[in-house]
Amino acid sequence: MDQFLNLIDTNKSAAQVLSEFAEAQKQSWLLAKDNYQGLNSVEVKFFQFEGFYIKVQFNTERIRSSAAKVDKESIAERKCFLCNENRPVEQQAIAFGDQFLILVNPYPIFKTHLTISSNTHIDQRFLVNATALLELAAAMEGFTVLYNGPESGASAPDHLHFQAGESDFMPVNQDFEKLKTTSGQLLFSGVNTHVWAFENYLRKMISIETSSITEGMEVITVFYQKFRELQPDKFEPMMNVLCSWAKGKWTIHLFPRKAHRPTQFFARGDEQILISPGSVDLGGVFVVPRRQDFDKITKEDIVDIMSQVSVNQELFAILTVEIKSKLNGNLIQHSK
Ligand SMILES: [Zn+2]
Repeated sequence: MDQFLNLIDTNKSAAQVLSEFAEAQKQSWLLAKDNYQGLNSVEVKFFQFEGFYIKVQFNTERIRSSAAKVDKESIAERKCFLCNENRPVEQQAIAFGDQFLILVNPYPIFKTHLTISSNTHIDQRFLVNATALLELAAAMEGFTVLYNGPESGASAPDHLHFQAGESDFMPVNQDFEKLKTTSGQLLFSGVNTHVWAFENYLRKMISIETSSITEGMEVITVFYQKFRELQPDKFEPMMNVLCSWAKGKWTIHLFPRKAHRPTQFFARGDEQILISPGSVDLGGVFVVPRRQDFDKITKEDIVDIMSQVSVNQELFAILTVEIKSKLNGNLIQHSK
């Protein structure tokens, strides 16, 4: 099996390697071919908010993920679809180090949608795997790598995995460039690292920009440890994470969550909207697998769903005050 980093050279960028890999899979794997072809004709609509927008994608194939049963019993009863012995025979892999396999996701949201799955069946956990997330993002320039917490959108909470897709697909990346100088609250400004909090962005978001993996991990650790104290009954604090690399630095967006699914998911009849928000939704693309939901979803629904699944203002304030004070207490190198 090829090692990803060995396939990249001066003539071929990471993005080219990944897109060729996906093309080859579409040729040799009928399911992938059909579903990527289907993606070309999915319907999309846009909702404009102050300074940013949300895209809604109508994508029937994502019903598996949106409606996935992720309770303990259901997980114990099913064969894990990420374990090597259960994966489709047509699905090829590129190795990333010893621990991860890069796979083409046969139920795409992105034009090139990858799943990066652990070689071994171990639980989905963030902090111990955050360095790997940063390394993956740095290797996959042009792509954003996503982490969905075990209770925040992962459809295999028992098998460690990330996903990745083209960075220009989710509005969050462009929003961030605009909003960091307007509505973002600067929590820390250092030589290599800047950290912002966004509280008026429908969802709550903490964003890190850093050229240092060590400092990036320090900020992530401060965030994680404080958030963990605030959600002591969870395996890990509930979150989604997006990470990308460009021009020598990482951009990491952390979305602290308080609910796995909104009330609309569990409602019946007309009240129901089948949406199960994960990283892509928090990144600004709501994925709805049912026609009726795509047709009826309103701006108010989007505001309501985001506020139900994101932490509230009080908790976010506690979190940001703590991050600000820890980081400014000489934890990492300050700007002059
Ligand atoms: Zn597994």
